[in-house]
Amino acid sequence: MEKSSVNKNWMSLFKGQNPAVIAGPCSAETPEQVMQIAKDLPAEVKVFRAGIWKPRTRPGGFEGVGEIGLKWLQEVKRETGLLLAIEVATAKHVQLALEHNIDILWIGARTTVNPFAVQEIADALAGTDRVVLLKNPVNPDLSLWMGGLERLIKANIKNIGAIHRGFSTYEKTKYRNIPEWQIPIDLKTQMPDMPIFGDPSHITGNRDKVFEVAQQALDLSYDGLMIETHCNPEKAWSDAAQQVTPQQLTDIIQKLKVRNVTDDTA
Ligand code: PEP
Ligand code: MN
Repeated sequence: MEKSSVNKNWMSLFKGQNPAVIAGPCSAETPEQVMQIAKDLPAEVKVFRAGIWKPRTRPGGFEGVGEIGLKWLQEVKRETGLLLAIEVATAKHVQLALEHNIDILWIGARTTVNPFAVQEIADALAGTDRVVLLKNPVNPDLSLWMGGLERLIKANIKNIGAIHRGFSTYEKTKYRNIPEWQIPIDLKTQMPDMPIFGDPSHITGNRDKVFEVAQQALDLSYDGLMIETHCNPEKAWSDAAQQVTPQQLTDIIQKLKVRNVTDDTA
């Protein structure tokens, strides 16, 4: 793969914010919920995330509010100026996201495992200048992750990045999804220009551990973080145990030690 095909310039969306943070709820639930969270986010956050279609492991749970949620997000953008990020899993999701001017589209861990699905999304986005982020697959497979990124690159999608959200395991471990830090480190070695975000919310599955994993990601020079944030996390309709409040997010961001350019010689 030609290195020059990955363009990091889109990271200037986060200009003035170190670390770059994408924050917002696991799922959009109601118009009031998304608006309140957006308004309560720390002022330096520039990108608001919310899941509209939720990939659930077993049927019968909350599967997302669907298309109507895109209208609520547009309202959030109008009122707050925040950029918008949602998960897409099908070509239809992509079409709706484009129609509703979503700025950043991410492909979830359960979709990355399926090359047909990733290809379908890449084709639906071919040549776009929207930002497209690809989460690692749920299983610890670097090639599958890189293969998905290569599909986006081959579709001439210019502004891309990776999200590390940990890998599922049947073992009882400290975190819900084991980080296997070596895998994203290998990704960074093989694709040095690829921006990478850490997702401590989905790695830990536990709001009390979000800070420590966010710090580990920054210590490895990640380019940014995605952190699930909700005004009433215990009552969240999905991923209730891992979401932090806007105040907790403010504290986490303040406490994080970031690498400044001037620190590099230290
Ligand atoms: C999410 O970001 O809410 C999500 C479903 O994530 P993942 O694909 O990492 O499980
Ligand atoms: Mn989630």
